[in-house]
Amino acid sequence: MEQFRLMINECIEIGMTSNISSLKALSMRAYHKLEPYNVPSYYKLCAISRAAVILTSRRKSLRRGMPTKSPYVMRRHLTSCYGFKFIGNAIRIPVGHREFFEIELNKHTQEILSDPALRVRSFTLTNTHLSICYSKDVQELECADIAGLDRNLRNITYGNDQHVVKYNLSEAVKIARRTSKIIASFKRKDMRIRKRIASKYGRRQRNRVNQLLHNTTKDIVERAFAKREAIVLEDIRGIRKLYRKGNGQSHRYRGIMNAWSFCEVQRQIEYKAKWKGIPVMRLSKEETMGTSTLCPICGERLLNGQYISRQLWCPSCGMKADRDIVAVLNQSHRGRVRFARSLPCDDKAKGGAAEAMRGNPLRMEVILRVDAPKSSHDKDLTEPKL
Ligand SMILES: [Zn+2]
Repeated sequence: MEQFRLMINECIEIGMTSNISSLKALSMRAYHKLEPYNVPSYYKLCAISRAAVILTSRRKSLRRGMPTKSPYVMRRHLTSCYGFKFIGNAIRIPVGHREFFEIELNKHTQEILSDPALRVRSFTLTNTHLSICYSKDVQELECADIAGLDRNLRNITYGNDQHVVKYNLSEAVKIARRTSKIIASFKRKDMRIRKRIASKYGRRQRNRVNQLLHNTTKDIVERAFAKREAIVLEDIRGIRKLYRKGNGQSHRYRGIMNAWSFCEVQRQIEYKAKWKGIPVMRLSKEETMGTSTLCPICGERLLNGQYISRQLWCPSCGMKADRDIVAVLNQSHRGRVRFARSLPCDDKAKGGAAEAMRGNPLRMEVILRVDAPKSSHDKDLTEPKL
């Protein structure tokens, strides 16, 4: 590992002095200079490509006008895409002169790598860690339907007019509130110590909330996969602007709203869906507009319900529903419209998606049954019979 580090640094130096960052040019110049190193030759190639990556990213930051230092690799590590082998339940890494050393893999890793569709690309070894990089060719799922995903502070709602699931995330809000209370309770007036402790608790909060979100997003993606649905996300970028100082909200409310990690949900959904081949659609700002205020049946502006919080009703057609459910219905409709538009004409004539958008009498009945108690948690709220 030490030799690998030195090789990278030598390559970087060569690249810096002759101002090259492409892999080919660098390997032409650097390969024979690495001769004194007594390691398998494929490690030299890997060191060169590692150095090329570092040099390229440096060049990129220079182009963007960011301040850069001359790069230097400090940590000992070894990255290679050649030479290693899986033998039994261990990975065997060559160290030259026909000598090898083996690292036992734990059960979880073995289980994951046992998937025949996976291809192991490379490994990285440091003093304490071994990371294995693998890839999978994913075929995009042929979607039968489209479902919307509505992200709120205290819940995530996923579904369309066939089924709706609501995940309760009020625990995440509680964690955030508890954390801010704990941090506020420290009275010592030393900024350095305060910062350190606050960052520790912030990390703890993030880890705990992310755990919750991971469980939720995993379930959503599995559900989408089982029902063969494309996922539609709304665009809520810029929502932080609503909760700034001077916007007339209380300090506490702003704190809660700004601790909300809505982007993390999107990130998790997107990468998990990609791994399973589920298409994810992002609505544009215009398409997102009014998803939770307009009636999914007739398009009329909805009014707030009087007795139940978060319930909306439509003055023109009399529909009553939870606002999160209204949001996912609208989103899935808009996703369908977008999908229908993107289809070639003859596909459109055949129909499903485009037709589904028009409000048919059947749909209205479906929605009327959507009303559900708010307290139900992590369950199918509706299984309408069609
Ligand atoms: Zn209506």
